[in-house]
Formats: sequence, C-alpha cells, structure tokens
Amino acid sequence: MTARIVLATHNAKKVVELRVILAAAGLDLPDGELVTSGEVGAPEPVEDGVTFAENALIKARAVCAATGLPAVADDSGLAVDVLGGAPGIFSARWAGKHGDDLANLELLLGQLGDVRTEHRQAGFVCAAALVTPDGREEVRLGEMRGVLATAPRGTNGFGYDPILVVDEVRTAAELSADEKNAISHRGKAFRALAPVVVEVLGA
Ligand code: IMP
Repeated sequence: MTARIVLATHNAKKVVELRVILAAAGLDLPDGELVTSGEVGAPEPVEDGVTFAENALIKARAVCAATGLPAVADDSGLAVDVLGGAPGIFSARWAGKHGDDLANLELLLGQLGDVRTEHRQAGFVCAAALVTPDGREEVRLGEMRGVLATAPRGTNGFGYDPILVVDEVRTAAELSADEKNAISHRGKAFRALAPVVVEVLGA
C-alpha cells in the first residue's frame, strides 16, 4: 500500500484520532495510506515559531518537504487567561524540562495559588496544519475551555488534563478518551481541517 499522507507525530493515538475524523468526513484511509513521520523517517525540525500555528506549519512543511507527500501536523498547549495566555507554546517545558508533565502542572498550580476560582479560566488550544507539495498551506484552530482546579483529579489523558475542569464538574483527566476527543481542542482543529484534507486527497 502506498502512503498518501503523513501525520507529523510519533503518537499512535493521534493517528487513530485523525483516521476516525477523516472517515467521518468521508475519507477512509487504511493503515499504510496514513502514516506517521516516525514511520517514514522524516526529520524533526526546530520548533522556533512563537505561535501554535507557526509551529504546526514548521512541522508540516518539514515533513512535506522530506516525503513529497501532503503532511498534517498539530501543535498545542494550555493558555491561562490570568497569565496572558501562558504557558502557551511553552506548555511542554514550563517547569524547565521538556515533557515533565507532573512538574509542569505543579508549577502552574503554585503560580496560581492565590487566584480565586472566578479568575482561573483557561483553555487548551490546538493548531492543525496541512501543507501540500504544491505549496498549499492551511491551518485550523480548536479550543477546549475550562476552569483550573486547585488540585489534580483523574488519571486519564496526559499533561495538564488533571487540572482543567471542562464540564463544570470533571477535569479532562476524568473523561474517557472518546468523551475528550468529542470536545477537545485537537478534535475540533482536526475536524475543521478534515474537509480540506478530503479535498486534497479525495480527487
Ligand atoms: P503537543 O503540541 O501535543 O506536543 O503538546 C504540547 C504540550 O501541551 C503537552 O506536553 C502538554 O503539556 C500540553 N497539552 C497539549 N494538549 C494537551 C491535552 O490534551 N491535555 C493536556 N495537556 C495538553
């Protein structure tokens, strides 16, 4: 089977999520047609953009250039209103070390220690980008808003999920994967981009 589109990620769960969303948009891509940048050995560029959209485009451009195939990439993070949108693009390394989810979340809770509930609004933001070999570039944004809890709750998900209360009761880490995908920033951004992917690959 020949690859037709590449998703810039090493995360198998993101591939499943994108495949389901594309199927709902009318495009069934079996294993082998939708592949990851890891599977095709595409390089990982320096993400030196200063917005989610720029970083998603940097990743999609690099994968498209390396493979000659349309490429999809996403970039996401948590934007806290009272912090002016921080941690934002620095979400993955807010406490200093890339990917230390617990340290990131504890640092943020400490920073917001004295902030009252009515000022704890925040949202996960995702930019999903599509870049095609003929130079077409499309970006769609998705957001999942909520209120920051004062202590972590829930064991599902990753990152800051245990501290964002998304339905007035549960944190994102207390949702099932399907429940989260239905309302998540990434789900919304991928669903918004899906018709463009269908248009590019559908013909
Ligand atoms: P990435 O762009 O998907 O790698 O996400 C960057 C960082 O943002 C992650 O390391 C997390 O700290 C945070 N983040 C992004 N999406 C989520 C989410 O759905 N739940 C919790 N944290 C997230």
